[in-house]
Amino acid sequence: MTLRTQPEMSTLPNQQYLHIQRRLHDHFGSLHWWPADSPFEVAVGAILTQNTTWTNVEWAICNLKQAEALSPERLAALPVNQLEAMIRPSGFYRQKAARLQNLATHLLEDWQGSLADFCAGPLNDARARLLALPGIGPETADSILLYAADRPSFVVDAYTRRIFERIGLLQGQEKYDEIRRMFMQSLPEDANLYNEFHAQIVQLAKTCCRKNKTLCADCPVNRECSFAKRGSSSVTQREFRNT
Ligand code: SF4
Repeated sequence: MTLRTQPEMSTLPNQQYLHIQRRLHDHFGSLHWWPADSPFEVAVGAILTQNTTWTNVEWAICNLKQAEALSPERLAALPVNQLEAMIRPSGFYRQKAARLQNLATHLLEDWQGSLADFCAGPLNDARARLLALPGIGPETADSILLYAADRPSFVVDAYTRRIFERIGLLQGQEKYDEIRRMFMQSLPEDANLYNEFHAQIVQLAKTCCRKNKTLCADCPVNRECSFAKRGSSSVTQREFRNT
């Protein structure tokens, strides 16, 4: 594949993240994540989407909606076997049922049922509270902070790693918090920007920058991408981690 010849990106590394975000925004526009009727539904979705696809989560959310169970009060009061049956489409349903009821119970007992209050205050403190709950890892915590509580906490997922390794801004060895810090130090502290950027990264991963096949000629960041500059059009497991 031959790409158009473009001048090398001359911006400093910390400017490249914003530059790439602008290109993605020009290409995809605003994507208005996260699709949910309430912040608590976002938090439930963030737990349900662990280790599964969003399509499977939608089935589980639909079941919870039909049972009017998407509030801390209703969810905490559900018999666990009923909750497990409702969220079964999302996989790992026993673990996830326990995590959901633990979150709901914690909100009720310590935060008067308010997810907004739980996520308020200094960002690091709110994040530490989330991470202290069983089964809430960094990606889930940041998804809840960003998409449920509108806090500027960047979400790093497998798509982020894949795309930014290919672009050349990640080497592949970085840990979650290191990547998150790189993004947050390079971008304005803006929850709406983080929201859109993560959504646009996911969109790019599903359209052009797929796991086993790249469509670099159609990609809005091909001029910034090391992989595209090498002129490859497909990906081998030897070149990239299995993300
Ligand atoms: S140019 Fe190709 S490898 Fe680079 S981000 Fe776009 S699709 Fe992925």
